[in-house]
Amino acid sequence: MPNQRKKIIAANWKMHKTFHEGIALLVELNMLISSKPTKHTIVVAPPYIHLQSAVHAVADTGIKVAAQNCHQAPQGAYTGEVSAEMLQSVGAEYVILGHSERRQYFGETDELVAQKIKAATDFGLKVIFCCGESLAEREAGTHFELVKHQITTALKSFQPRVIKDVVVAYEPVWAIGTGLTASPEQAQEMHAFIRETLQGLFGAEIANNTPILYGGSMKPANANGLLSQPDVDGGLIGGASLIAQDFFDIIHSIPA
Ligand code: PEP
Repeated sequence: MPNQRKKIIAANWKMHKTFHEGIALLVELNMLISSKPTKHTIVVAPPYIHLQSAVHAVADTGIKVAAQNCHQAPQGAYTGEVSAEMLQSVGAEYVILGHSERRQYFGETDELVAQKIKAATDFGLKVIFCCGESLAEREAGTHFELVKHQITTALKSFQPRVIKDVVVAYEPVWAIGTGLTASPEQAQEMHAFIRETLQGLFGAEIANNTPILYGGSMKPANANGLLSQPDVDGGLIGGASLIAQDFFDIIHSIPA
């Protein structure tokens, strides 16, 4: 029997799309989705500056809006930063935290990500927590250890009631924006390992109910193979989410 976990397809626009381009993308996506509705959870993460308009653009469609980051402090003298409460106040429901680009270019550590998860969940945001190994770590065979360390460090201090609001996204860094994708077998192997890690930390109920998304060059051509794996509960999509038809085709690649 298929599991009862929520399936989620999330779009990470990164630093792409001007305001008008972004709204046009959402309008196109709305039209496609209303022509063929989905029972799954669809999330879009535009840049901060588009969030409030994105919330209005998807009102009544069921699409949820996410931010791509937030600051760990509730407020303060942090020029250029955005707090979790601000995100919640404009209607964002999710926030992506720990993305490898934040780790690589902005020096974010698992300890910092843990603080951000606390800030986000304190304001009722759901978190898409990203983890995943580099190519060197996979080649060295340390990828399981690394992912376990990332998950344990970022999540271990939280109560199960907080973890219920966390979605894990496994994103092998070597597959992000490179056109290389984990094979369905590689993804399934790591997702099962992540579930086992969650079970060790929080018990079977949390482990069985936490959605684990795959991210890394997912596109219409490879989505069905990945999304058919028993422990792959959806996708976090970068490049292909910038084209409404591709993102829509990925949504409908989830097996019935
Ligand atoms: C991402 O950055 O989260 C991502 C998965 O990007 P892409 O789909 O472009 O590899």
